[in-house]
Amino acid sequence: MSILGAIADDVTGATDLAAMLVTAGARTVQLLGVPAADSPPPEADAVVVSLKSRTAPVAQAVAESCASLDRLRAWGARSILFKVCSTFDSTDCGNIGPVADALREALGAGIVPVCPAFPANGRTVYQGYLFVGTALLNESGMENHPLTPMRDANLVRVLGRQTRARVGLVPFATVERGAEAVREALSALKREGIAYAIVDAVSDPQLATLGEAIAECRLMVGGSGLALGLPAAWRRRGWLFQRMDAARLPPVPGRAAILSGSCSRTTLAQVAHARARCASFALDPLAHPNADTLAAAAIDWSDRQPLDATLLIYASASPERVAEVQAVLGRERAAALIEQAFARIAEALVARGVRRLIVAGGETSGAVVSRLGLTRLVIGPTIDPGVPWTFAPERDLLLALKSGNFGTTDFFTKALTMLEARP
Ligand code: ADP
Repeated sequence: MSILGAIADDVTGATDLAAMLVTAGARTVQLLGVPAADSPPPEADAVVVSLKSRTAPVAQAVAESCASLDRLRAWGARSILFKVCSTFDSTDCGNIGPVADALREALGAGIVPVCPAFPANGRTVYQGYLFVGTALLNESGMENHPLTPMRDANLVRVLGRQTRARVGLVPFATVERGAEAVREALSALKREGIAYAIVDAVSDPQLATLGEAIAECRLMVGGSGLALGLPAAWRRRGWLFQRMDAARLPPVPGRAAILSGSCSRTTLAQVAHARARCASFALDPLAHPNADTLAAAAIDWSDRQPLDATLLIYASASPERVAEVQAVLGRERAAALIEQAFARIAEALVARGVRRLIVAGGETSGAVVSRLGLTRLVIGPTIDPGVPWTFAPERDLLLALKSGNFGTTDFFTKALTMLEARP
């Protein structure tokens, strides 16, 4: 039985939440997609289901979230967290309101606290208004987001437009008075028939207060910031034991490889850094415009490398080179070709004994994980914010999935050195 079951509306957000829970001492497993009805309960204090529901059609987001809820409840989760983006990414049609309404109804939950604050990343909520750094949400650049333009910073109004239920506020001054005051305010709002309460938080101590106040709520809505306060509250209730090994992953002997399909500036610098330290191979999609032969070239090369070499295989290229490839192959075809090639390469490398695998690129990671048939990742130590090492029990594999912009320049070598230091 786990303490928290979280349903996250995107994959990187799920990983971020999971890594923060582990850092706070809670053993955490991340599930990729809606868990199958017959999948066994993960052994963990927190289970985070990662969906891709943020911008999916409303009905699909609701259906997948409710199916995930069913599994999490069957596994005995005490509380459910609907994990949303810290910039509350959504439109007047959803998906935060409709998904929250469906979860609330299924759980018969009373008042639902809602707080996307994450002060360390500049996300604070004051009098119900969400700030990004010093700017209101609607003046932060988020008003121009291509899919979920946020043109109103007042979360009481934003959520109010997405649900038929009533939305209230627990303001800063109440949160300052402590957890008991927040609990009383929530009860008072509930008596008025209010279903959701936006809760202010502008600092980590306020998130700690919030964690204590809402630890026993059946349903909560928020960002990764909630992971700052909840685990301490669980400990005070005797639900979570003080442990030093929440981030411990099993030692997995085997070869190491890095696959990089991200072309972000951050990743290009990381690839350049690693090239000087690894056996490296650049995929050439123009020489092999076919996923099988593109993959075969890399696999043949890897077969000629010494067993103790760290392999770096990359398609990452400068914007000019990417434009050249896209001009010949077309943008979609180039992307699909390279993603499929990486999926095949990953499969072949794992079959050849690679047991520590780093993948750079969000889409690239998705292709690799699906080819390897992975549905669950045990979360380990954080390499850089938002990117932990994970263990994939289905393939006995240590895996780090890095989306484009994450990580320091020495990310790849740092990640591998970290595993050697912590066998
Ligand atoms: P990020 O997390 O940086 O966005 P992704 O893996 O999500 O990385 O996206 C990068 C996309 O660019 C992938 O679809 C990948 O296949 C594609 N790609 C990678 N290298 C090249 C290249 N040399 N030319 C064209 N497209 C490429």
